[in-house]
Amino acid sequence: MTSIAATSRAKAWIREEIQALSAYPVHNSEGLIKLDAMENPYPWPESMQQEWLAHLAEVSLNRYPDAHAHSLKQCLRRQLDIPPGMRILLGNGSDELIQIIQLCMTGPERVILAPAPSFVMYEMVARFVGARFVGVPLNPDFSLNLDVMLNAVRQHDPAVVFLAYPNNPSGNLFGREEMDAIIRAANGLVVVDEAYQIFSGASYYDQLAEFDNLVVMRTLSKLGLAGLRLGFLVGAQDWLGEFEKARMPYNVSALTQYTAEFALNRLDIFQQQAARIIAERDRLHAALSSRPGFTVFDSRTNFILFRIDVARIQELFDRLVALGILVKVFPASAPGLKNCMRVSVGTAEENEAFLAGIDQCLA
Ligand SMILES: *Cc1c(COP(=O)(O)O)cnc(C)c1O
Repeated sequence: MTSIAATSRAKAWIREEIQALSAYPVHNSEGLIKLDAMENPYPWPESMQQEWLAHLAEVSLNRYPDAHAHSLKQCLRRQLDIPPGMRILLGNGSDELIQIIQLCMTGPERVILAPAPSFVMYEMVARFVGARFVGVPLNPDFSLNLDVMLNAVRQHDPAVVFLAYPNNPSGNLFGREEMDAIIRAANGLVVVDEAYQIFSGASYYDQLAEFDNLVVMRTLSKLGLAGLRLGFLVGAQDWLGEFEKARMPYNVSALTQYTAEFALNRLDIFQQQAARIIAERDRLHAALSSRPGFTVFDSRTNFILFRIDVARIQELFDRLVALGILVKVFPASAPGLKNCMRVSVGTAEENEAFLAGIDQCLA
């Protein structure tokens, strides 16, 4: 078979919605100061790394991992205060949980709804599974526009509403009253995505027993374990028992289970790192705000969104890359994000390099 025949065969058989997509863009970060992906910039203390390595060899790689991750779940309950009576569903990152939820709840007639702009995976997964995605515009300051949101919920009767709390890419926490009103108005499931909880301190855990259409999603990624890929969903048996059926039995590897438990038993290290990141974030926020022509948005996360008064933001981005600094810039089509950049909080030195770089580009 020639490759031309193979190509046309793929074109004929791959679903049109998939062919119309472009893969999530991940910029090559080799040799760059990486401030594009909300990673924790701090390594583990040397002694902790040694201890981890010393026991790593005990993981039996010839065996499948514990399909129910019994020990890790107990550890999560203990260390991260999972509300009693609620179930836990583990995912290969929360990205996989978004996929599992949508696989279970979508069909051709079903709508997935989220504010716009918000986390891109909600929409990407909706396209994978052939659901209709409705993005509801936020206010210009990225707060929820409650009237527009409630109208959209009534009009589209979504199967799932995703609310990132705090929101990415804006960094702000939505108002509690607006969130509650949306959860009450929704017939379907509301997923409150608390990926940045370690930085925001805010949570819907205590509302899980109150709303029967609420689940809370978290991840270890922003805590400092992005490479590990572990997300978890917390909610009632009625929902999670069903989602569990669509989870691949060995989706969380033995190495991930061992390492996550090891790390969670030393949670204070990550809490100390988060406190340093928050202090650096506030310093970076003040520094950016003092620059003329910069609009800097409030952040309850480990990143900052800001808007700059420049003619070509893409050109500024390219010049920063040339100086060795990688941040995130948004396509002109992204709703409400014209001339915006998102910078993740790095170490003090990395943040200084970023500020010096942006000053040099704008001089
Ligand atoms: C980063 C992020 C995630 C992804 O988390 P993973 O567990 O790494 O897949 C989920 N939701 C939001 C809002 C995020 O910003």
